[in-house]
Amino acid sequence: MFGNYWTAFLDIIYPPKCPACKTSVSAQGAWCQACLAKILSVRQINMAEHHLTALDSCRVVCEYTGGLKRLIHDMKFRQQQQYAIYLRWLIEQNIDIKYLPHIDYVIPIPLHAARLKERGYNQAEAIFKDWALAGKMPWIEDVLERTRHTIPQWELNIMERKQNIKGAFLIGRPEMVKNKHIMVVDDIITTGITLDECAKVIKKAGAASVHGLAVASGAR
Ligand SMILES: [Zn+2]
Repeated sequence: MFGNYWTAFLDIIYPPKCPACKTSVSAQGAWCQACLAKILSVRQINMAEHHLTALDSCRVVCEYTGGLKRLIHDMKFRQQQQYAIYLRWLIEQNIDIKYLPHIDYVIPIPLHAARLKERGYNQAEAIFKDWALAGKMPWIEDVLERTRHTIPQWELNIMERKQNIKGAFLIGRPEMVKNKHIMVVDDIITTGITLDECAKVIKKAGAASVHGLAVASGAR
């Protein structure tokens, strides 16, 4: 009840607007139909085509383009944590938990401690945590760790990306993932190499399956 009043109050103070073109929309976090048509591309990534070997499946919702590209960029590099609501809305509207494989835990791709300190938040957590919990999928963030700082993947070619990310993650509490079905989430995937490397480490710790989910894909 309080939630409804709060939402109504927010709608008066901040009328809901499309984040890309600022036209009025019906709910906080929503995109207008025209902007949505430019970015929406709900699909499963073809594992073989992208040489991903550890992930069991990987879903993405949008193309990394237009207004979405700017939003994700600003969220990562300009401290715009509040944009998470627009990215979460895209996931809520387009990923139906009923049709996902069974998931025991959702895990965000971790940032290195130094990066987390600098940014103040993990964008994957800001986007996905509330969605996972609303869908009764337990969220754990202290299991997978990034052990070293890595160069941003977009600066590298495919071979360099693999080298860059290899061994960058470790499982702190292997008993948590043993025989479990895990979903790893991130804001954007380019080649999928980072998600796949995480899946490799999680499976080595005994997980039964690892599925990926990202808001956007910039993969060509
Ligand atoms: Zn729009």
